[in-house]
Amino acid sequence: MGIRTGKAFLESLRDDRQIWIDGERVPDVTTDRRFAGAAQSMAELYDMQHDPALKPRMTYASPSSGNPVGLSFIEPASIEDLARRRDMVKIWMDATCGMFGRSPDYMNIMLTGFASAAEEFGRKDKQFADNVRNYYVAARENDIAMTHTLINPQVDRSRPVEKQEKDLAAKIVRETDAGIVISGARMVSTLCAFSHDIMVMPSTYLANSKEAEPYAFGFSIPVASPGLRFICRPSIVHQNAASAMDYPLSARLDEGDAMVIFDGVLVPWERVFIHRDAEMCNGLYNRTGAMPQIMHQFSTKNLSKAEFMMGLAFAIAKSTNIDQHLHVQGLLAELIQYAECVRACLRASEVDAAPNAGGVMTPAAMPLWTVRMMFPKMFIRMCEIVQILGAGGLVAVPSYAELTGPLAADVRTYFQAANADSPARIKLFRLAFDAAVSSFSGRQQLYERYYSGDPVRLAGTLYNLYDRDGYIERVSRLLDDLEARQKPGGAVPGFHPKREAAE
Ligand SMILES: Cc1cc2nc3c(=O)[nH]c(=O)nc-3n(C[C@H](O)[C@H](O)[C@H](O)COP(=O)(O)OP(=O)(O)OC[C@H]3O[C@@H](n4cnc5c(N)ncnc54)[C@H](O)[C@@H]3O)c2cc1C
Repeated sequence: MGIRTGKAFLESLRDDRQIWIDGERVPDVTTDRRFAGAAQSMAELYDMQHDPALKPRMTYASPSSGNPVGLSFIEPASIEDLARRRDMVKIWMDATCGMFGRSPDYMNIMLTGFASAAEEFGRKDKQFADNVRNYYVAARENDIAMTHTLINPQVDRSRPVEKQEKDLAAKIVRETDAGIVISGARMVSTLCAFSHDIMVMPSTYLANSKEAEPYAFGFSIPVASPGLRFICRPSIVHQNAASAMDYPLSARLDEGDAMVIFDGVLVPWERVFIHRDAEMCNGLYNRTGAMPQIMHQFSTKNLSKAEFMMGLAFAIAKSTNIDQHLHVQGLLAELIQYAECVRACLRASEVDAAPNAGGVMTPAAMPLWTVRMMFPKMFIRMCEIVQILGAGGLVAVPSYAELTGPLAADVRTYFQAANADSPARIKLFRLAFDAAVSSFSGRQQLYERYYSGDPVRLAGTLYNLYDRDGYIERVSRLLDDLEARQKPGGAVPGFHPKREAAE
């Protein structure tokens, strides 16, 4: 099959999936008023792979079929491969202002990271390694879109999953000849309405005990599997908007988020990657080395997002000449620093990339960890800066529909700015409202805060990962050296021994 077209993608979503929202089941996500805009946007992403101008930058020849397949599936063997993959991700991210974070490249890169280290899944039983590898090849050759869930429902976070009084988390309830049977819930499944498969993997720490074993699994199955239900949060598409131009991002880029219910769902053995194996669950990211690859994807998303917010702020400031004021230039310079910081980290991760033990070219992790930890704060500040610059103008612009309504003459007169006519000003400020003030923006801010994990626990992970000893040693050496060079009579020696010797 190779790369999908947008049309084929939309057709593929018309199946038995159970997407529930507002108390009803959605018969067709491609036409439903709450989902159709994002479905269309995703179809456009798939079509971009067929654009003759973009195809060479977005695809590579499949190692198995020779067909062009998505570059997000490449197993990077060189720094050039990483740069090619980043370029592909950036094309999709620029097309969505970095606001469609779960476009298929995200999971494609995660799965590829797992598949490149498939042998790790086969430590207890080689079949699981083969399953991961076969699934990766099928996903690559059929250009599938995946959602995923890593987290158990928020019930009682003071106790481990196997010790909950209300046992709601998804778990293995039995094994059959055909596969494992799962019941319970998982969160959060972003993009579920637009995905073919759901990958259910571990992330929280599991005890290596008999009681925790039923929660120790990893697999991927079709979204339309019998017994699988997705209960979505309410849509952020504005149903009463007179024009999609009033909410240009919300109308097109609501990825959707859901709780997933497994009601006796059969997972065929060939789709099981981890089975009752807490050690593999806990070691998943360390053993596979997939995380730097995933961070490379989402740092690229963050670069697109930072560039978009910066461009938006430049345009707002220019429209009313506030960029003449020094403090406004200071705020705009802050946005430049954010974009350039992300760009620098991303490039550093490539320049300092090295092959891992399995020969997979792996981006340097620390620059990407830096983006992962800092970007939530940066993005929230970016929204704040757009609010500061747009000020009352963000709410004193009318609906785009007024441009052609009975008050069109007023609107064309009174909504002008120094450097923008009314239509330009209205379009720009509605976009800014959607990016920095709306419920879409609120969800984006929440997303940035949490999509890659809880920042509190991530900070602990980073601290424990970081190679600290060399730095402590430097401080100790300095103190020992200063002490050893103390002079009698209280005379103060030079700070640097070499300089002192030269004097
Ligand atoms: C918009 C959005 C989209 C998402 N999409 C996906 C997705 O597609 N797939 C997916 O798998 N996940 C997704 N997530 C979920 C994300 O992985 C989690 O939100 C994140 O891991 C944090 O877990 P939690 O939400 O359960 O928060 P909790 O673990 O309940 O934490 C809530 C608060 O309590 C504190 N806390 C709780 N337990 C502890 C502890 N043991 N130690 C210290 N502090 C603690 C946290 O610091 C935090 O402040 C998404 C989240 C959001 C917001």
